[in-house]
Amino acid sequence: MPDVLVLVDHDGERVNKTTYELLAAARRLGDPAAVVVGPPGTAARLRESLARYGATSVHAAEFAQAADFLVTPAVDALELAVSETSPAAVLVPATTDGREVAARLAARLDAGLLIDAVDLDSSGVVTQIVFGGSYTVRSQVTHGTPVITVRPGAFEPEELPGGAAEWTLVPPAVDPTTSARITDRRTVLAGDRPGLTEAAVVVSGGRGVGGAHGFEVVEELADAFGGAVGASRAAVDAGYYPHQFQVGQTGKSVSPQLYVALGISGAIQHLAGMQTSKTIVAVNKDPEAPILDLADYGVVGDLFAVTPQLTQEVAARRA
Ligand code: FAD
Repeated sequence: MPDVLVLVDHDGERVNKTTYELLAAARRLGDPAAVVVGPPGTAARLRESLARYGATSVHAAEFAQAADFLVTPAVDALELAVSETSPAAVLVPATTDGREVAARLAARLDAGLLIDAVDLDSSGVVTQIVFGGSYTVRSQVTHGTPVITVRPGAFEPEELPGGAAEWTLVPPAVDPTTSARITDRRTVLAGDRPGLTEAAVVVSGGRGVGGAHGFEVVEELADAFGGAVGASRAAVDAGYYPHQFQVGQTGKSVSPQLYVALGISGAIQHLAGMQTSKTIVAVNKDPEAPILDLADYGVVGDLFAVTPQLTQEVAARRA
């Protein structure tokens, strides 16, 4: 079986769930080979969990300043791993950084790039959501090693019994003169909530919440579910909620088990980031709002009247 390279998304201590989803997707095409980029010791910490979710080998590109660079070390490591293993494909999470890594890698390899895959079959045919979610297309790369970004939440992680992964140290080769370097860091307070792309439940607020204060009802419902908070671009642009929580075409793509849209009209650019959610619930006071056409369950009403009742009910059932 050919290798299928998977770029590992991690925080140094823990592998993010999206990587386990990519390992499950990779198993459809060949043997998943994880590529870890980080400071020395990172791959040793992550190796066991990667093997448990299907990685049969781990390529570790480790160097002390790895955390100081943006995406180039990952592109370098993948490029080297491609030249050494001639994989069937390279899978990268469809996150902000992942998209940049994939585009740069495909350009360097002169290879075809497919973005936002939501499904993948054993012959390498990829199902994508395109044009802001208006169309679903099936595509296949016919030139070079396929580079594919995979939408978080599109695949179920598969835990395998007794997995073990071979281990290779890849020499990192970062050229500081051509690699973008991090010069400043800001701490984002995410609290105890799960990450947007990892959460089983996402509760998002739109312009309809009316202000930053209005997001309290959104947060309360998210917390009752143990879920994450998201926001529409209109809510973000109006300063109601920080940009890193934006869901949609120019924000994050999510595919949770449950997506609750509060005061969101359902513009195509918002749907592009959440329409693959398993169950969608919308609360909107306008019965003509497009989000109600997509929702599995729609409530026509004032979100400030409906949401607290929903929160109370969810909290009571989970108590
Ligand atoms: P609105 O469209 O203003 O809708 C507010 C809704 O709240 C209405 O349906 C209203 O009936 C309802 N409402 C009001 N008060 C209440 C109440 N008390 N109770 C219940 N319901 C109430 N948008 C994104 O979200 N994500 C993106 O990534 C994104 N990217 C974009 C990229 C481009 C290139 C462009 C052009 C646009 C993009 N947009 C994106 C913007 C998008 O087109 C919409 O403008 C935006 O999604 C609208 O946000 P909204 O639904 O919160 O606001």
